[in-house]
Amino acid sequence: MAAVDITQPSPGEPPAIALSKKIGEGPVVILPRVSLVIPGLNEAESLPELARRIDAALAGKEHYELIFVDDGSTDNTWGVIKQLSDDNPNIHGVRLRKNFGKAMALSAGFRKARGSIVIMMDADLQDDPADLPNFLAKIEEGNDVVVGWKVNRLDPTNRRVLSRIFNGTVGLLTGVRLHDMNCGFKAYRSEVIRTIPIYGDLFRFIPALAAAQGFRVVEVPVTHHARKYGRSRYGLERILRGFFDLLSVLFLTRYQKKPMHLFGLVGLVLAAVGFIIEAYLTALWFLGHKIGDRPLLLLGVLMIVTGIQFFSMGFIGEFLTYQSQKRQHLQDDLPIRDEIR
Ligand code: UDP
Ligand code: MG
Repeated sequence: MAAVDITQPSPGEPPAIALSKKIGEGPVVILPRVSLVIPGLNEAESLPELARRIDAALAGKEHYELIFVDDGSTDNTWGVIKQLSDDNPNIHGVRLRKNFGKAMALSAGFRKARGSIVIMMDADLQDDPADLPNFLAKIEEGNDVVVGWKVNRLDPTNRRVLSRIFNGTVGLLTGVRLHDMNCGFKAYRSEVIRTIPIYGDLFRFIPALAAAQGFRVVEVPVTHHARKYGRSRYGLERILRGFFDLLSVLFLTRYQKKPMHLFGLVGLVLAAVGFIIEAYLTALWFLGHKIGDRPLLLLGVLMIVTGIQFFSMGFIGEFLTYQSQKRQHLQDDLPIRDEIR
């Protein structure tokens, strides 16, 4: 067989990578600084324009990568992503096996992101790529999380009102006051998404969870456009679920590292009141009263038993926290901002 010089491209075919002559001297990979993660469910019509506008906003100024996550679309979304990535080497795609929801789509995209700044935005052209430089500027100022604020929000009125109530409640309870915690347009320093596990729908609360970890959270006004193609993939039921998520977030931000402080306190109060009730009834019994038919007897017993249950939950919680902290300890993700060595 004739020897083929693989360092020379065959005629009419560009070399895939510049092969190095010396052993051990691999091709140079330039990592992007900014990763954009864009989840999409049936957004085939929007993607080409979105990709074009993102490129217009960043090309020449920024090493970026664009990761489209196809969340189990049934239209030609994946075909469009393939086409776009053929035309632009900065564009990559991830396709989920089925529709898992935006949270999973984001997690998958975040895992692939290589940049030190990770930006998420919606695929439906409601977010404006022209705002990207403002997000980057806020990160460069030293912030860790930048949340978009749709000043002129173009969504139906009921959605806007519910969002107001929701953000007000969240601000009051978590202390993280933002106009639009749930905005789909956000930028993160990559530590943030590496540190905070996102599951279920908790990605909506990343700013609150991040602030609880000492990350700096700010907002930036963004332009909002009405949906151009198709309808919102969500209905009003999402707000209802949002309130349950808020409960989880409150628990996670306040008591995650010390579950015994919550469960122990509740348990202690319950058991103590139950104990006082039973002591009082015992005293009556010694004085010769009949106590067997008194409802109070049952109430006291109930309080002691539930009190002990709360205590046990506290212990289990502490045990789980201890185990996960032990693992975290090994992974070395301490909440450190700066270090002098
Ligand atoms: N999305 C997704 N998976 C889903 C639902 C939505 O990836 O199961 C994407 C959707 O394609 C869009 C973004 O999440 O890019 C926001 O969804 P949508 O525009 O429907 O929400 P809204 O703007 O109405 O809040
Ligand atoms: Mg939308």
